[in-house]
Amino acid sequence: PFDVLIVGGGPAGAAAAIYAARKGIRTGVAAERFGGQVLDTMAIENFISVKETDGPRFAVALEEHVKSYDVDIMNTQRAESLKAEGGLIEVKLASGATLKGKTVILATGARWRDMNVPGEAEYRTKGVTYCPHCDGPLFKGKKVAVIGGGNSGVEAAIDLAGVVDHVTLLEFDGQLRADAVLQRKLHSLPNVKVLVNAQTTEVKGDGSKVTGLTYKDRKTDEVHELDLAGVFVQIGLVPNTQWLKGSGVELSPRGEIVVNAHGQTSVPGVFGAGDVTTVPYKQIVIALGQGSTAALAAFDHLIRTSAP
Ligand code: FAD
Repeated sequence: PFDVLIVGGGPAGAAAAIYAARKGIRTGVAAERFGGQVLDTMAIENFISVKETDGPRFAVALEEHVKSYDVDIMNTQRAESLKAEGGLIEVKLASGATLKGKTVILATGARWRDMNVPGEAEYRTKGVTYCPHCDGPLFKGKKVAVIGGGNSGVEAAIDLAGVVDHVTLLEFDGQLRADAVLQRKLHSLPNVKVLVNAQTTEVKGDGSKVTGLTYKDRKTDEVHELDLAGVFVQIGLVPNTQWLKGSGVELSPRGEIVVNAHGQTSVPGVFGAGDVTTVPYKQIVIALGQGSTAALAAFDHLIRTSAP
């Protein structure tokens, strides 16, 4: 068995692998797609100490760093279930194989929920974006839309209003769902317009970048167009935890793995790290820190529970 078995090969899983391997213990990483969300990212400008890089370059660097240690990387392997009933923890893969670990670190990340309208996929990273912390500054002096009037959409609109020229927030429902304090702040901003009952129907572009969107007023059925440089989609982040149903690992109402400050889950010996957990703010540097924390906590667990 592995001393530390990591499921997921994004920033969190990679950091966990390096920290575990540096303890000289048997470390394995099973990942559906090594690199994770970073592979879908263009410019990265907030990875501290590296002024600017891009996703594919960053993913290669992650993998090279992990490979410089004695880590068993099992790429293109999808985990389907986890069983922890005393003794070793078992992770069953789609291939049919079962991996065993004395400890397991869950780092399966998350994915942004998309609108599923024409143009969205085509203009992804060409004006359609899901991360105001990442991409806000790219739209300085320009007009953008935020889709979604929950807390993350309203927070994004407030954040962007300080960076871009103008923000239009579109909410499908008849009212915003964000906390009242956020709504008050939003309505106080001079360069934000809020549209409710607004169903985005298409993202428009010129072939290389976003130029606007169309939406339907759900009250009148009228279709309107907005001229924009960017569309921030904020309709939810879905943690990749469906495969943990029935495993005994506690999930939050949003489906995130509940972890404490040490990355420990509700199951002894099972840790969580990165976007898949309840830890707030889903960012690369945070996932790296959490992966490191989880590996150190797993090591602590091993030295307390393993026979000498
Ligand atoms: P992920 O990167 O999601 O990795 C999850 C890993 O788990 C992957 O290897 C995946 O294949 C694997 N996996 C999932 N399910 C299974 C399974 N069942 N079995 C096995 N493996 C599985 N953050 C920044 O800090 N700066 C940015 O500029 C930035 N830009 C972004 C742009 C885009 C378009 C996106 C989508 C995200 C961006 N982010 C950015 C966010 C950042 O990418 C994430 O916070 C970070 O990747 C989270 O790392 P993670 O390891 O927790 O999860």
